[in-house]
Amino acid sequence: MSKIFTMVSLPGAGKGTLCSQLSKNIECISAGELLREEINKESHIGKKVKDIVAKGLLVPVDYIIEILFKNMQDKSKIYILDGFPRNLEQALKFDEILLQSNDKLNNAIYLKMDEKLLNERIFGRQICPQCNLSYHKTLLPPIKENICDKCNVALIQRKDDNEEVLKRRIDVFNKETIPLIDFYRERGILKEIDASQELEEKVKILNKILKGD
Ligand code: ADP
Repeated sequence: MSKIFTMVSLPGAGKGTLCSQLSKNIECISAGELLREEINKESHIGKKVKDIVAKGLLVPVDYIIEILFKNMQDKSKIYILDGFPRNLEQALKFDEILLQSNDKLNNAIYLKMDEKLLNERIFGRQICPQCNLSYHKTLLPPIKENICDKCNVALIQRKDDNEEVLKRRIDVFNKETIPLIDFYRERGILKEIDASQELEEKVKILNKILKGD
């Protein structure tokens, strides 16, 4: 049986950066990143979801499930799903699928962040188009300005990291994801991490949660 966690937060709270600091047997799977890959490949799913993602709206759950579960087949691994589920509908479907394969969700991790801090985080964000690593112009700069440390290619800004779309993504979070957080809290499996702490501290807390302490 795999150990499965989900991580939720407002956009820009730093889920991706936190995930990039974990050890090799822990696999973070970002729903948004997988969708962007499909869009770049211009695959069947990519074409269907392109406009929805560009608007900052949620794509239909069946597409997410299809691309997600292809990447979760190793039962010896610890998986952290970054950005799935995002609402109650997705959480209920997810429970059904886990039940069928004799798995369960160990914990939902809420990386909690003040909405006021988001603009700075998002508008300075840059990603590598090759390895998807996330940087920040001032908070987490690459060694060479605008160049990925690992791939040596020019960093880009995500198309949905603009003011109008960010507003919509925050709205979607408040309307759809907050009830999901309450649902997991009531179930007794919610763990919260304060996103404003130093990265090292957050990694420590997250590792403890993953170990089940
Ligand atoms: P963020 O969390 O910063 O909004 P992500 O990379 O996680 O960024 O997601 C980018 C976009 O991908 C979302 O705005 C949405 O359009 C789509 N998306 C990601 N995860 C899901 C999901 N679980 N269900 C539906 N759409 C999703």
